[in-house]
Amino acid sequence: MRCPYCGSLDTQVKDSRPTEDASAIRRRRVCPDCAGRFTTFERVQLRELTVVKKSGRRVPFDRDKLMQSLSISLRKRPIDPERVERMVNGIVRQLESQSEGEVHSVRIGELVMEGLRALDPIAYVRFASVYKNFREASDFSTIIDELAGSDSDAQDLATAPGKAPDPA
Ligand SMILES: [Zn+2]
Repeated sequence: MRCPYCGSLDTQVKDSRPTEDASAIRRRRVCPDCAGRFTTFERVQLRELTVVKKSGRRVPFDRDKLMQSLSISLRKRPIDPERVERMVNGIVRQLESQSEGEVHSVRIGELVMEGLRALDPIAYVRFASVYKNFREASDFSTIIDELAGSDSDAQDLATAPGKAPDPA
């Protein structure tokens, strides 16, 4: 594994152990050239996923990118990273099993919103405000209503016309 700091190809594994839910192997690595430390994960991948963007453009699914957009929503929230990891695993498994390898970015956004809703209301509202690109206060109150448990609005949200940035 190439060192992300100096590019050396000679990095060494210092420690290797499964994550808490045993869905991945976490390896701590060190670079003997620059002493840089980093972590890699080995995961099951059931199939290659391609994301179809709103523009119609197709790009390889990027789990790290999804984690990045989640970490922005979860910033400074007291949420166990293992739970986030499990949520993302669940989303990826659903995408892998429900699709023929192509998934629409809108679908990913919906799954993330479902997951965050159960995980943390604050992160959910944050993600939704970006994903749904709120333009009016009423959009926001719809989300709050939804959190309060009114299911009638949830359907509207799930099928709202796309105007959001791609989450992955
Ligand atoms: Zn290095």
